Amino acid sequence: TSGSDENDVVVIGGGPGGYVAAIKAAQLGLKTTCIEKRGTLGGTCLNVGCIPSKALLHSSHMYHEAKHSFASHGVKVGSVEVDLPAMLGQKDKAVSNLTRGIEGLFKKNKVTYVKGYGKLISSSEVSVETLDGENTVVKGKNIIIATGSDVRSLPGITIDEKKIVSSTGALSLSEVPKRLVVIGAGYIGLEMGSVWGRLGSEVTVVEFGPDIVPTMDGEVRKSFKRVLEKQKMKFKLETKVVGVETSDTGVKLTLEPAAGGEQTILETDVVLVSAGRVPFTAGLGLDKLGVEMDKAGRILVDHKFTTNVPGIFAIGDVIPGPMLAHKAEEDGVACVEFIAGKEGHVDYDLVPGVVYTHPEVASVGKTEEQVKALGVDYRVGKFPFMANSRAKAIDDAEGIVKIIAEKESDRILGVHIMSPNAGELIHEAVLAVHYGASSEDIARTCHAHPTMSEALKEAAMATYDKPIHI
Ligand code: FAD
Repeated sequence: TSGSDENDVVVIGGGPGGYVAAIKAAQLGLKTTCIEKRGTLGGTCLNVGCIPSKALLHSSHMYHEAKHSFASHGVKVGSVEVDLPAMLGQKDKAVSNLTRGIEGLFKKNKVTYVKGYGKLISSSEVSVETLDGENTVVKGKNIIIATGSDVRSLPGITIDEKKIVSSTGALSLSEVPKRLVVIGAGYIGLEMGSVWGRLGSEVTVVEFGPDIVPTMDGEVRKSFKRVLEKQKMKFKLETKVVGVETSDTGVKLTLEPAAGGEQTILETDVVLVSAGRVPFTAGLGLDKLGVEMDKAGRILVDHKFTTNVPGIFAIGDVIPGPMLAHKAEEDGVACVEFIAGKEGHVDYDLVPGVVYTHPEVASVGKTEEQVKALGVDYRVGKFPFMANSRAKAIDDAEGIVKIIAEKESDRILGVHIMSPNAGELIHEAVLAVHYGASSEDIARTCHAHPTMSEALKEAAMATYDKPIHI
């Protein structure tokens, strides 16, 4: 069996980090096995993360548009209703097509796929309890830990995935709750809050910190919050949940100001706990091998993704860095390149971040607050989508492009976009920053008309000179 042959690379975990590492390793001519316990490939991202959430964001946006915007575009429809089972079915179909697609890629690239729970028994052996109930040992010269992350639970709150749900439960609610409370104003909470808000829930977001999505540029965050409020999302910032009581009729939350003070009661039907994610290493046997971790439980690695135990590597959500699928993929490729004796590189300053609400918010590089803190002299160029012809033509013009460039050299340090499709628009900026472009480089690049991308060009013009259309 595959278990008794020695592999060049054994990957534990078949998420975006692990499956990409496995495919890349095989492409580099390394004999590779990937072990995954879930029964399907693709990890958190494909099964209960990026993909199902984007499927629901799209479907709920379509419903919302049909209900609230079609008429103004001259499209008459009868009454518009949500068919939730069909909507969830569409999401499930997207997930199963994609996860099966990865299995196909494994076959094509000759990656051996072992379905089961992997546990390290030495720096070159993984024992696997397979999903068929068998035990086998998979040997490898190099072992990559790509076991990802799991939902962070909050003390005193038990997730039952019915009334008190994690993001996983929030992807499959059996009916649209009348009221939904989201604990945590990170991107996952805002995305899932948007989904259910569009389908009719009254959404209240409770956040311990002073603001939503703390990594976002302050100015963009402010407009973003205003947009979400216009969409009827309510926020209770600097507020902590100190008590939760479920009953047949719903959930009663006891809230308190973050700094302490008078308690209030908030009643709701469903609570989504989205207060971050934690690295997942349960049952991996790391202690016994002495693999070093930090206080947050993340595996410590050097720039070649090597742990302190030779032959054991780690990538993705289980190591420090942004917990994002595309970051995990970059880690996977670079890690395997090092194993193959090549050079690998991930620039963590240039990992784009996207919030897939409507409008979307996407960014790359530094925020204005970060640039200020560095003491760099800088210029800011902005351009609103209200002045972008395409956005006006389609009547979807809420948003802005903000570019921050070093004053002296005009080199772009950060780009922040709020707009429909910002998650697609950002990549021109990612490439520009990657190649050390100046704002003038973008401004002097011909952009097709009429496109949303022209807003980036105009913001670039505004950075070192003047825009045309405002
Ligand atoms: P994971 O995807 O978590 O995969 C790890 C895999 O390892 C799992 O399948 C697990 O079953 C398996 N495993 C663990 N231990 C073992 C073991 N001992 N033996 C065998 N198998 C094991 N990121 C984005 O970039 N864009 C998004 O839009 C986005 N949306 C998200 C929405 C939600 C609701 C959530 C929860 C996450 C989202 N993310 C998004 C984050 C993204 O899913 C993660 O960053 C990404 O999946 C991390 O990849 P990974 O390979 O490190 O780990």
